[in-house]
Amino acid sequence: MAEDIAISGERTGHRLASNSARRALDILGDRWTLMILYLAFTRVRRFDEFQARIGLARSLLTDRLRRLEASGVLRRQRYQERPPRDEYRLTEMGTDLFGAALMIIRWEKRWFPDPQVGAHRIRHNCGREFTPELRCACCGEQVAARDVSAADGPGAGLEPPARPRAQRRSTVERGELAPEEKMLERAIEVLGDRWTAQTIASAFTGKRRFNALQAELGVAPNILSERLARLVDLGVLDRRRYQERPERFEYALTPEGLDLFPLILELIRWGDRWLAGTAGPPQIITHRPCGNRLEPRITCDQCGEAVTVLSTRFD
Ligand SMILES: [Zn+2]
Ligand SMILES: [Zn+2]
Repeated sequence: MAEDIAISGERTGHRLASNSARRALDILGDRWTLMILYLAFTRVRRFDEFQARIGLARSLLTDRLRRLEASGVLRRQRYQERPPRDEYRLTEMGTDLFGAALMIIRWEKRWFPDPQVGAHRIRHNCGREFTPELRCACCGEQVAARDVSAADGPGAGLEPPARPRAQRRSTVERGELAPEEKMLERAIEVLGDRWTAQTIASAFTGKRRFNALQAELGVAPNILSERLARLVDLGVLDRRRYQERPERFEYALTPEGLDLFPLILELIRWGDRWLAGTAGPPQIITHRPCGNRLEPRITCDQCGEAVTVLSTRFD
């Protein structure tokens, strides 16, 4: 199995424009992390249960749980003294990722609906199965990528990329899954790798060319080539030739890729709230049709009312 070692920003002095979606994806852009969080939202709390559902080696599961704890997304709570046993619960910061989880469900339901996936049968307290929508809290319209503009916020600046970690490619096969074990597989393919996730975040900042993406991410060229090819295979990016001699290509988001935008907006909201610190948000996003600063509101496509962790249930 190949080890992906990124070029270390600490060594090269590489700096990235601060971006809340990217900061969020530094925490979340990992296959096992996404599975753990999905299960946490379905009230899985105990190590053995996570392990049984994900089928991950104990050491790797421990590592991911510890990282989520260190990030502030999960907290450990003792539920048994002898022998000591802890369970993992979502913190307020973790629970606030529910909007991002809803946007992942939205994307999968729109592009890869599968009635066997429990999350696709999510119900709202209006009693109906629904698809979540992201709207502007001011004007109530749904928000797409072409509707917003971004300007520097108080926290704008440059920062080193997150510390690279030796990350095994997520090539562990879980074999054929029982229907009740299926968890948002497509989204995990797209987002469950640090570099595919970061490449998508960069694509939404308008970066299309290999050199621009490489400069922005500070990633080794072979890793970027491989991830771009994977995102093309997954139908999220489209490879287009923009120069004949020498031949050069650029990578544009497909309609399916562009439809990840509501998720990116939720990650920006979450990152602004929990990861921006006292500096404040790196960017201010404006909803152009109404001219107001964008505040996302997630609603039910069946009744139009707000969707929260308390107003939904999985069958
Ligand atoms: Zn608006
Ligand atoms: Zn509803």
